[in-house]
Amino acid sequence: MIELPEAVVLAEQAARTLSGKRIASAVAGQSPHKFAWYTGDPAEYNSRLAGKTVGQATASGGNVEIRADEMTLVISTPLRYHAAGEKRPAKHQLLLEFADGTALSATVQMWGVLLCVGDGEPVGLRDYAIAKARPSPLSAAFDRAYFDSLRAGSEALSAKAFLATEQRIPGLGNGVLQDILWTARIHPKRKMGELGDEEFGRMFDTVKTVLAAMAAQGGRDTERDLFGRPGGYRTVLSKNTVGTPCPACGTEIRKEAYLGGAIYYCGGCQRV
Ligand SMILES: [Zn+2]
Repeated sequence: MIELPEAVVLAEQAARTLSGKRIASAVAGQSPHKFAWYTGDPAEYNSRLAGKTVGQATASGGNVEIRADEMTLVISTPLRYHAAGEKRPAKHQLLLEFADGTALSATVQMWGVLLCVGDGEPVGLRDYAIAKARPSPLSAAFDRAYFDSLRAGSEALSAKAFLATEQRIPGLGNGVLQDILWTARIHPKRKMGELGDEEFGRMFDTVKTVLAAMAAQGGRDTERDLFGRPGGYRTVLSKNTVGTPCPACGTEIRKEAYLGGAIYYCGGCQRV
């Protein structure tokens, strides 16, 4: 599962690198994965995609959408480009071989969708429809008034649950969450009902600015781009920095399990 900044980076790179390539063959579901979702039978992907030409690629929440004639691939997993003659990964959940000898592979991390939908066909995924209907936090439509509208009824939720669950903010997941809350100086367990207007305003600002910075810098340094390179955004709170001093106050960065995933925080900058 990828998140918004990496989806933006992968979509830009896919548009630049793959557009105009003809799909020679498609293999879906070669490596079985319990949490990989396909459209119908993965065995049919080859007949649905072979011979099609790749068009635009765009990001939508935590998905990359790649057009191939009248088909759209909706993918929420890391993607990797392979040059002609380059070894393909041993394990993958989708592999597109192009007529020029290059290829694209998709490999599920934790869980992921690898949908292949024709124009006019239903996508058939509840979360997808919800995320699609909501403005991207990188867009102008995601403004303070919109963020205020999400606040109503959220008093009992923690900051983490508010920002990173229920597709409330498409593509904002447990990864990008950590630096957003650190930058806002809000602990992930703080209840939304306890946040003052000033803190809530800070949360809005950091959702916008931290996500934009991550996307502009090629994604986070914990993730890899289409060419296998780590992103240029240096995470403050991540698996890379746990146990090191907080750059703002020197307190050791901690990791804890919370709400079905790890949270990272600085006990000096972020108080419960
Ligand atoms: Zn700190």
